[in-house]
Amino acid sequence: MTEERQRFRTSLNLLRNRHEREFLIIGLGRFGAGVARTLVEAGHDVLAVDIDYATVELRAPEIPHVVQLDSTKIEALREIGADQFDTAVVCIGSDFEANLLTTVSLKKLGVPHIVAKARTRTQKDILLQIGADEVVLPEHEAGVRLGRRLAEAGFIDYLELSPDISIVEMRAPKRYIGQSLAQADLRQKYGLTVIAVRRQDEMIINPPAEFVIEPGDELIVIGAMEGAEQLSE
Ligand code: ATP
Repeated sequence: MTEERQRFRTSLNLLRNRHEREFLIIGLGRFGAGVARTLVEAGHDVLAVDIDYATVELRAPEIPHVVQLDSTKIEALREIGADQFDTAVVCIGSDFEANLLTTVSLKKLGVPHIVAKARTRTQKDILLQIGADEVVLPEHEAGVRLGRRLAEAGFIDYLELSPDISIVEMRAPKRYIGQSLAQADLRQKYGLTVIAVRRQDEMIINPPAEFVIEPGDELIVIGAMEGAEQLSE
């Protein structure tokens, strides 16, 4: 038995002997690992599992109790004492069948609070019907949150080119009206480059440094989304 494997066994035994158990996290992709890490950092008792050995080994340094098992097998869940956890979070995304089987097994074992992750509304409805107490749609919810934030920020339009770079069209902030682009110096302050300005029906591409921002102008900038949000505040 490798040292790592031995360590997982020890973790398992440690947890078996405890009476108070809080969170069982199943599936350690980006989402599951994020949930587990956040709970661990907040001082909660977490047991995390994944079917894939390499994933288990990858996550072990940041999540103290992590074991390899196939959560679709109810016996495997019983063996780790899944029924003694207050809350189980099923974080399996691409294999919906595995997600369903895991949720059903947890329900059969009597876990009081089961949270499952879904990718679509249909999946969400099915998971709720088979007994999940709560279903999250992380991508959809993140999209809605981003949309709300951007609407509040007064953006007219935006395009995310990559996680770090976006093109944003926004009303020119009042505090920069009357200033030239050189004076406003948005590159230095917000890491943004003004690539165009919409003035009424005209589109001024690549405006020069001496270009003066007027009321009603719309700036089209490229840079990080956070920079654009700060500029529009
Ligand atoms: P992410 O959270 O990274 O977006 P995802 O939604 O694409 O991930 P998957 O990668 O399909 O989800 O699954 C997440 C994790 O769940 C993976 O690490 C995978 O190994 C694990 N997993 C899949 N099936 C099972 C299973 N039957 N038992 C335990 N873990 C499983």
